Amino acid sequence: MQPSGSLHLGNYLGALRQWVDAQNADAFYCVVDLHALTLQISPETLRSNTMDLLATYLASGLDPEVCTIFIQSQVPYHAQLNWLLECVTTYGELSRMTAFKEKSQRQEGFRVGLLTYPVLQAADILLYNTEEVPVGEDQRQHLELARTIAERFNNRFGETFQVPLGTQPKVAARVMDLQEPTRKMSKSVSSPLGNLHMFDSPEDIKKKIAKAVTDTDGEMRFDWEKKPGLSNLLEIYSSLCGETPEQVAGRYTRYGELKTDLAELVVATFAPMKQRYEELLRDPADLYKIAAKGADKASDVAGVVYRRAATAMGLS
Ligand code: AMP
Repeated sequence: MQPSGSLHLGNYLGALRQWVDAQNADAFYCVVDLHALTLQISPETLRSNTMDLLATYLASGLDPEVCTIFIQSQVPYHAQLNWLLECVTTYGELSRMTAFKEKSQRQEGFRVGLLTYPVLQAADILLYNTEEVPVGEDQRQHLELARTIAERFNNRFGETFQVPLGTQPKVAARVMDLQEPTRKMSKSVSSPLGNLHMFDSPEDIKKKIAKAVTDTDGEMRFDWEKKPGLSNLLEIYSSLCGETPEQVAGRYTRYGELKTDLAELVVATFAPMKQRYEELLRDPADLYKIAAKGADKASDVAGVVYRRAATAMGLS
């Protein structure tokens, strides 16, 4: 994930929670600080966001004794492989990416990194012989591009990369804005009330859920097409409690009661993580040590894959 500000419920349910569930000795999780350079972000903010995100990973349950957790820029192979892959990717492929089309329209004089970052993403993935990439639904197109690049490279230069598969959670793969439930919850675009952060205060969580837009017919039913606001709340609830959205809907008759219970569930889920997050940030030296150890472990694997790719292309 990019260190571009505190994580919202979509980041947690769509991605981070799957990572915690799937962690093992072969799993690599990274804070992609190079990607954050595509934003207008000050050096101080980038540095502190990077540590915040590392602390968030750990507080959510990622364990550096079990998996590898690191900061992207501390493993230079990402930027190096990025260049090799840029040379097998076409301008047409990148300019067709939906995220590029949307973001470039919002930014005047956007920079080249906004066009090419999906190639860096492909490098992030391919460096680790990655079989599965657990991401939210919004990343599907970028993941498809990573597969295309890997297949093209293998065809042209010989078997070099594992071709990765994207995996998405069954529910909450696309958490929607609480105020505009036809738009995804997003760090950059959502309104302050539409975006629920993992470490919002309990008061803010309750307020945002209480004010979440639903509909006026009052019928408790899971139906994305006709009832996007309510269905979003039901999916969030379902994702946190393990029942299906239909089962959750079956337990309630009033929207207000559903919202009250959901707010309590969200507060209870994140309270222990928030406490751990605050403790971790009190000792940055420990975070730096974890990052350095993770970068060493990641470099061992990434170095082998990078050299394989560079040699295949004819670099000496
Ligand atoms: P980003 O916000 O681009 O740094 O996204 C980090 C991760 O969160 C990616 O795996 C995204 O797919 C996931 N993600 C972002 N927004 C949402 C959302 N609204 N619902 C589900 N997953 C999301």
